[in-house]
Amino acid sequence: MSLMSLKSFMSLIKVLCAQSMEESMKKDIVTKGAILQRDRETYAIAPHIPGGLTDTATLRKICDVADKYGLEVKLTSAQRIMLIGIKEEELDTVWTELAQKPGAAIGLCVRSIKICPGTTYCKRGVQDSISLGLKLDARYHAMELPNKMKMGVSGCMVSCAESGVKDIGVVATAKGWRILVGGNAGARPRLADTLVDVAADEDQVLAIIDKIVTWYRNSGREVRLGRLVEEMGIEKFRQEILG
Ligand code: SF4
Repeated sequence: MSLMSLKSFMSLIKVLCAQSMEESMKKDIVTKGAILQRDRETYAIAPHIPGGLTDTATLRKICDVADKYGLEVKLTSAQRIMLIGIKEEELDTVWTELAQKPGAAIGLCVRSIKICPGTTYCKRGVQDSISLGLKLDARYHAMELPNKMKMGVSGCMVSCAESGVKDIGVVATAKGWRILVGGNAGARPRLADTLVDVAADEDQVLAIIDKIVTWYRNSGREVRLGRLVEEMGIEKFRQEILG
């Protein structure tokens, strides 16, 4: 074999080895809601707990499963409870024993609808953020979209659900609801723009958010909503959504 052919042969071997290593490396398993952990071996899962509202029976079940499989537990910023340290071969059994739906913690979809206590519990609340937030959760949680999307619903301007850094944020005011778009707290943080200053009631908010989500689904772009709002400018975006 000539020197040149030997070099080409060695390069080919290197490429094949790299490919085979990449194929054998574990990854997130989106269909099981399983997030690969730092040890590159075990997984974390997060059952869906809409708005972080749960009950003691559900918490006991989560604790029982965590104890049985020796898992660690962490509260997440998406108002969920994450179970950490699951072996790949135990993922299905753990989900079966939990008997709960997965939270959309990974994948290109509506990840979470963060909901503050609003007028249901909070003395500062001026609108019922739990009612609106749970309706949004029922409609959109886990819906597949061109990129990930987060929502936040706050019951007053204090904005405890961080509505200003959500792709779609809603904030209650004395007059109704303010709708914000294009927020993002990630690598390129962006404060949301106000799309609608006053939407009178839940139905109006739901109708407008439906238009935003439908427009985004059909946008043909795979970037976060905020990038599109930034490119178009909020006036043009408002024209697109509200006509
Ligand atoms: S946003 Fe307002 S209503 Fe909601 S928890 Fe914070 S202070 Fe209370």
